[in-house]
Amino acid sequence: MTDDNRWQAAVEAVFAAATACRNVGHKLVNGVMEKGDRSPVTVADFASQAVIAAILEKHVPDELLVAEEDSAELRAAEAEPILAQVVDAVAEALHRPVEREQVLAWIDRGGAEHPGEGLFWTLDPIDGTKGFLRGDQYAVALAQLDGGRVQLGVLGCPNMKTVGPDGPDGLLLAAQRGGGTLALPLNASLKPGQGRPVRVDAVTDAASARFCEPFESAHSDQGASAKIAALLGITAEPLRMDSQAKYAAVARGDASIYMRLPRGGSSYTENIWDHAAGMLCVQEAGGRVTDLDGRDLDFTRGTKLVRNRGVIATSGRIHEQVLEAASGIVPRPDAASAGPG
Ligand code: AMP
Ligand code: MG
Repeated sequence: MTDDNRWQAAVEAVFAAATACRNVGHKLVNGVMEKGDRSPVTVADFASQAVIAAILEKHVPDELLVAEEDSAELRAAEAEPILAQVVDAVAEALHRPVEREQVLAWIDRGGAEHPGEGLFWTLDPIDGTKGFLRGDQYAVALAQLDGGRVQLGVLGCPNMKTVGPDGPDGLLLAAQRGGGTLALPLNASLKPGQGRPVRVDAVTDAASARFCEPFESAHSDQGASAKIAALLGITAEPLRMDSQAKYAAVARGDASIYMRLPRGGSSYTENIWDHAAGMLCVQEAGGRVTDLDGRDLDFTRGTKLVRNRGVIATSGRIHEQVLEAASGIVPRPDAASAGPG
């Protein structure tokens, strides 16, 4: 298995899974499914994981997949109608009939133990579930790691514009370590070699930057980001969006900064599958990604980024300016608990 084969497999998998999510999303928008309940996102989430696992099984049968979902919930008797929809969505995406036991087994292929520094894949089948339900941004995020380093990162963003703001919906970003980040349209029949390299923007003065942050105020301290922006002289309104679409925005220069700031008092620790693919897309497009302390994200400690505090992604040249501004605004947990004096 070469890195190029893995790249092909990852792109094929994310393309098929993102198409499955989009198909389910269309049913949601057209009112075929109930609004207000979470069943559409549940169907898309499980279908996406099954499709990715099926395609990885075909290309890299011996490689571990550490993914967000498992099939326990779907195996319950009351989940029968959901499971039936998942099976339909998987069959549609794979263009062939599939058995429900097979679909459940694919979902559980994603239950591998995190192997520390060994080779594995990590997946968030739908990152930004709230965005999916609102019809806003969400992403299928797949990464392959080895030796603690992210080697491949692929983001499928069905609601991101491919080209300009008026271009067709659907963006796939695929990054390979040392090979750059390519943008492919998610809505065409995908051909290898079709990708176009993307680059971060060339902003050198943070004041002229635009920043993005989570739409959900529970996921990042928006008060702190506003203070950091003010300190940097940023006047543009923040782009608020769900999912790793924020990394895609930085990777192709729609924004220059992504801030994800722990809220005071929150003990939340970030998941590896919420960052691995997006991080490589930004790095290979020329940007930088660290935590608030300027440390690299550490993917070797299990499924959580226990060694990191928040995330800052930038187009690169302004990275130190942003870290410097943030250092005075986001208190360190020890400083916060020690109190003044
Ligand atoms: P975003 O769309 O950027 O807000 O990120 C979505 C991700 O936020 C989900 O995949 C969750 O894993 C993660 N998440 C859930 N709760 C929190 C929290 N309290 N703080 C930060 N991230 C969270
Ligand atoms: Mg997620």
